[in-house]
Amino acid sequence: MHVGFLGLGALGTPMAAHLVGRGPLTVWNRTGARAAEFAATPREAAAADVVITCFGTSADVASLLDGPDGLLAGLRRGALLIDCTSGDPTTSRRIAARLAARGVAFADAPVSGGTNGAEAGTLTVMVGADADTFARARPVLAAFGKRVDHVGPVGAGDALKAVNNALLAANILAVGEGMTALVKAGVAPRRALDVINASSGRSFVSETLVPERVLTGAWPRTFRLALLDKDVRIAADLMADTGVSGPVVELCSSLLGAARAELGEAADYLDPIRLTERQAGVEIRE
Ligand code: NDP
Repeated sequence: MHVGFLGLGALGTPMAAHLVGRGPLTVWNRTGARAAEFAATPREAAAADVVITCFGTSADVASLLDGPDGLLAGLRRGALLIDCTSGDPTTSRRIAARLAARGVAFADAPVSGGTNGAEAGTLTVMVGADADTFARARPVLAAFGKRVDHVGPVGAGDALKAVNNALLAANILAVGEGMTALVKAGVAPRRALDVINASSGRSFVSETLVPERVLTGAWPRTFRLALLDKDVRIAADLMADTGVSGPVVELCSSLLGAARAELGEAADYLDPIRLTERQAGVEIRE
């Protein structure tokens, strides 16, 4: 099976690496230097049996469809486009409809597990597609996904991923605030986290992210705040579209939007904690 992979960002690069050696592979990236050894256009990378995209937003995917070198010019009837972007359901459904008119199947398949999970091939993949398309996508996604779940029709994967990341954002903001207050109150941060992690307030943020990245000061940049902000905005729109009152998600979206405006497009998703620390005049470090 010939696979095309487009989008060699922080996540796409280790994902594509798992496809090397499994069969013919064509890759493409907008900034050519990242894909220098592979000379391809989107059209050339799309001339495969299965085409995987991993861009920042669904709008980025849509912007590559048209034109003489675009995806639609390359995709063959009977091919499958799997979009691993953390996208938005509305745009994914629109893309799926355009592809269906040309006999090309589509699945939204955002992932969770970060750059570490992508490197280890242990991502969780949440797939929105019809049953036949999911059956075709699953073996390809298993190259980098430990858990590949069919969660509903096109758009369902995006919706689930957005809600997951809204929960992540709420945790980051709340743990950052709580831990900053505890430091100011004279509680040693490692001790505070050890107790929280043996209690009911624990989460992935308290158990893994803050101990490994904030307490140590290591703070690697693995996932841009701009992308988390985008995800939480999608979740807030989902609340509105489904008629569900979502003040918590809305507040997280507004806080992340303000942090992004202050810290810039290159900031890491844990950097909002720095803003809380700065305001309080303390740091959550060992
Ligand atoms: P990056 O910002 O590192 O990379 C984005 C990629 O998209 C780059 O290859 C970039 O190309 C390309 N791109 C962006 N806009 C366009 C465009 N208009 N046309 C063509 N190419 C474009 O993002 P990540 O790899 O971190 O994330 C990718 C997706 O995965 C996002 O939706 C993100 O939310 C999601 N995600 C990321 C995780 C992480 O830990 N990093 C975890 C889980 C999900 P170029 O190199 O030219 O800029």
